[in-house]
This record gives sequence, structure tokens and C-alpha cells, in this order.
Amino acid sequence: MKFIETRGNDGHRPSAVTFSQAILSPMSSFGGIYVPETLPALGDAFLRAHLGSSYKALARAVLDAFDVDIDSDVIERALALYDGFDDPAQPVPVVRVRDDLFVSELYHGPTRAFKDMALQPFGVVLSSLAQARGEQYLILAATSGDTGPATLETFKGRANVKVACLYPDGGTSDVQRLQMVTEDAGNLKVIGIHGDFDDAQSALKTLLSSATFQSTLRERHTHLSAANSVNFGRIIFQQIYHIHSYLELVRQGAIAIGDKVYLNVPSGNFGNALGGYYAMKMGLPVEKILISSNSNNVLTELVRSGTYDIRGRKVIATSSPAMDILKSSNVERVLYDLFGPERTRELMAELDEHRVYRLNDDELTALQLVFAADYADDAEVEAYIQDTFQTHGYLMDPHTATCFKAHASCREKPLPGIVYSTAEWTKFSPTIARALTGESGQHDIDALKSIAATAKTVIPPMIEALFDKPVVQGAVVDKQDIEREVLAFI
Ligand SMILES: *Cc1c(COP(=O)(O)O)cnc(C)c1O
Repeated sequence: MKFIETRGNDGHRPSAVTFSQAILSPMSSFGGIYVPETLPALGDAFLRAHLGSSYKALARAVLDAFDVDIDSDVIERALALYDGFDDPAQPVPVVRVRDDLFVSELYHGPTRAFKDMALQPFGVVLSSLAQARGEQYLILAATSGDTGPATLETFKGRANVKVACLYPDGGTSDVQRLQMVTEDAGNLKVIGIHGDFDDAQSALKTLLSSATFQSTLRERHTHLSAANSVNFGRIIFQQIYHIHSYLELVRQGAIAIGDKVYLNVPSGNFGNALGGYYAMKMGLPVEKILISSNSNNVLTELVRSGTYDIRGRKVIATSSPAMDILKSSNVERVLYDLFGPERTRELMAELDEHRVYRLNDDELTALQLVFAADYADDAEVEAYIQDTFQTHGYLMDPHTATCFKAHASCREKPLPGIVYSTAEWTKFSPTIARALTGESGQHDIDALKSIAATAKTVIPPMIEALFDKPVVQGAVVDKQDIEREVLAFI
């Protein structure tokens, strides 16, 4: 399968690339991103054939359908990482919380957040490609908390790839910070910066445009790649669990093959929702995809009114920080799929120049055939966490909780909804402890203990162990010293 560009081709780059090329250099003409030229048709026959398949066997079949140019032994090694999840036979449990509400738990990997679903296998694929080509890659990441740990974990000790990861000191949870600063491997560098997430991101942009940095990369024969969800190498792994979750509902007797369901996705950069969109296009019986947000509700506004408007908006810090985003990169892939490359280029140019674009009535109708959206503020999120625990004994994190609002408000038909749970309760414990016990301002370790006691559960060992691990990545610097730190590292 070939990959083409969302904003059309500039005549200088190849008009279509392979999967591995799209992974190694994810940016394309006019600032666009790569999308599959066509999608495979899977349909009911595929679903029927995989009703008895393991997660890994299903994943292999989806990758085969995409006909990716990756050796099958590399794919085998990549998918083997799902064996490191809590239950190798069931890496993604789907739990019935109430009659019509199922939670697909995407957080049972090593860093306890759904980023592992794609980044775990992606690390093997990227490192293997780099080795086969005899090339060195550098991945730069700015993180507000979940991408950082998952990126470091997957590339730890892997050949031909280095990772430098910037995080805002004081801007992540204790658990997230410890997951990064205790990562001990020569190919990893973690740098805290004095400032917030925007400062970390702008420091990264400054670095990328620095001539000294560029020439050092050339001298070291090092290429830059990206591990965020503009990289299709992540998206490909994010379609699988949507199909898996649907099949789980069939296996649990809640639906029959062919019945429709709602997918309900807590969305930031829209990679997770895009995976659901592609699964639907490939034939998964989905009524609609519900896009759940927090108070940074640009996506709610887009789906309801057709206007993407970030004029005068500032990011609001919420209890679901992985969704504190204004520019949601993967929406572009949906625009491309619905409206084509010329229109996508036009809309993205409007967003860059004027910080706003407007879909016309026909375009909005097309968008609303697939998506519906709602958002929950922090108070509502806390109420959902408390109520769901008290009524159903189910613990969930703030990102997951935003979906409960859309489940109530967006379904037009009485069909079951699959809510995607993107983080374990351990990652945002102070918010959850406050919802359960009323006590606020706790440190993570105290909040973890109080939740475990209240819910009569245990703190998973990899989280508890973090608090005793030595800090090996102690660098916390000012913005202007980032370049020196990164150059010293490479
Ligand atoms: C990354 C992340 C999200 C947002 O996912 P997108 O694919 O970027 O929309 C939601 N919740 C958690 C916990 C995350 O880490």
C-alpha cells in the first residue's frame, strides 16, 4: 500500500511513498501529513473470521490487509510486546460498567496509559528500519505527561534511535515525572525546563530551526523523525483495538456481528478517534464516533457548528491534561478523507493564517454523519468519577470520565457505547482521590494509597516501584540552555 499527502504534492517530493518511508520522514508537501491511498475493505466476513482470534492475530491480519513493507519477523517482534501487558492473553480488557456502557481499557501496558498501545510496537518497527538502512535517528519530544514516558520506554536501549524528551518541570504528575527521570539508558535524555508545556514546545521549535543544531545532525549523520501521532506508524496500531473491542462485545453476547455501536473517544490530537474512523471506513459497524473533550472544547465546537476557531483561545489547564490541546493534528486526515487535498490545504492555510476555518453546510453535514461531540468540565469529570465508583464500583481516570457526558448526551439511538479508557487511575491519582474521599492537594503517593484503600485494590508494582527508583535524569534547565543540553547528548 502507498501513502499520499493530505495537502497535495508539491512536485519536489515523491507523489506516493511506502509505509516505511512515511514512518521515517512523516512530514510531507505544504506541511501536510501522510494518509493511506486507499483503505482495505474488511467487512463482516473479516469480523466473523476473527471472532476467535487473539489480539496479536487480529493485529497481524490488519497489518497484512494494509500490506505494509515491513518484514514479517519484525512485525512478529513488534506485536510480541503486547505479551508484556498485564494479561498477555487479553491485553485490552473490555469491561461492562452498565447495561449499555462498555469500557475498553487501553492502559494495561508498561506506562499505564494508552500511548503504549501504539508506541510499544512502533519502537521495534522504527529501530529495525533504522538498523536495516544503517541510519541513525533522533526523536525529539515535548510532553505534558503521557507521550514522554511511553516514548522513552519503547526506545530504551534500542539500536540506531536516540530520544530527547522535554517536559515542563512541575507541569506533570509525580508519577509521570518519575516515569521519565528514572529511565536509565544511554540513548535517552530527559530534560525538564523551567516553564509550562507551551514553553517546552516552543523550545523544541527553536531548536529545530537552529543552524548549529542542523549542522550537528548532518555531521553525526543523524536524521530526525517524530513519534507523535502525525506519524502513521502510530495510527496503524490504533485501528486494531477498535475492531478488537467490537469483537469483545460480540464475544460477551452484547451484540451480534453487523449490529452497530457507538465509539466514544476522549480526544486530544485525534489519533485515537482517527483509528476508529478508519476502522469504520473499513467496514466496522459503527453508528457514530463520539468525540469527548474537556473545557478545551475546540473539537466539540467543530463537530457541532463546523467552525474550528482558536482565535483568542488559550489552553486551559484541566484535570485531563493529555487533552489540553487547541490544534488537533489528526483532524486534518479526516478533512482529507471527506473533502480531498485541495480543500484540506485551503482549510489548514486558513487555520495557520487566521486561526479559524469554517466548513460549508454540505461539509458540516458530511462530518456530522460520522461524528457527534460533547465536553465535560472538571467538576463534571469529578462527579462522574465519584458516581461511577459509588454506583458501579468502577475506578476510572479523568480522561475516561469525559466520555460519560457524551454517552448521555450524544447517542440518538439506544445502541451500546464503547468508551475508550486511556489512562489508569494511578496516573492522575490526586484528582481521583479528591473525587472519592474529598481530600484535596495530596501528593501522588498519598493519593495512590488512599484510593487503593478506599477501592480495596492494589497499586500496580511498576507504579509503586517508581518512588524508590534513583533519579538518573536530573537536568532541569532554562529555555535558552536546551540546545546546549541536546547537542551534548547527541
Ligand atoms: C494522548 C492521550 C489522549 C488523547 O489521545 P489522542 O489520540 O491524542 O486524541 C487521551 N487521554 C490520554 C490519557 C492520553 O495520554
